[in-house]
Amino acid sequence: MTEPIPTSAATDEQTLDSIAEQIKGCTACELCRSRTHAVPGEGNYHARIMLIGEGPGYHEDQQGRPFIGNSGKFLGELLGKAGLNREDVFITNVVKCRPPGNRDPMPDEIAACSAYLDAQLELIDPDVVVTLGRFSMQRWFQNERISKIHGEPRQDGKRLIVPMYHPAAALHQAALRTTIEDDFARLPKILAEHDQRAEVENERLGPKQEQMRLF
Ligand code: URA
Repeated sequence: MTEPIPTSAATDEQTLDSIAEQIKGCTACELCRSRTHAVPGEGNYHARIMLIGEGPGYHEDQQGRPFIGNSGKFLGELLGKAGLNREDVFITNVVKCRPPGNRDPMPDEIAACSAYLDAQLELIDPDVVVTLGRFSMQRWFQNERISKIHGEPRQDGKRLIVPMYHPAAALHQAALRTTIEDDFARLPKILAEHDQRAEVENERLGPKQEQMRLF
């Protein structure tokens, strides 16, 4: 990251816009040399659900928007299974610039981009994060197998993290299609589970502590 993320009196929305501008001009790793457009992410800044993919592909690089190729079209259908559309969620990636030839992102590229994702997570503050594919899963779940843990939410502070197969994997392997569809269909229940846990926690804290937590 080349410039510090502003923390002044700007609103969260303004800060998120300014982070997107920084990403568009970022030169923190080699991926800036081959990109057409950086892809900061898009969607609802007040989303309860944030989806994190791996990195932009060809179409995303051409247009500067996440998940707009074949996997994006399928992602739209998957969101529909949860009664959601793209405007309800925030969609971004672990790396914001396309790795050439769609190769895997390198550890130094993921590291160079991670402060952007940290800031987006902090400012959007989603209740539920859905990881799509290996590289975003690794941020929360190391040495685990997606075949074992997909669709199972885990608590991370006040947030639930749900590892899911990458939509592209399900497009290439017909057997995974129903699996990922079923995982997405459970999202409303997972949101309700989040709310129940938050309610129990608020009751445990009691009204005084809860009031203090708000300040
Ligand atoms: N695959 C990803 O992981 N992200 C995109 O934005 C597009 C395809």
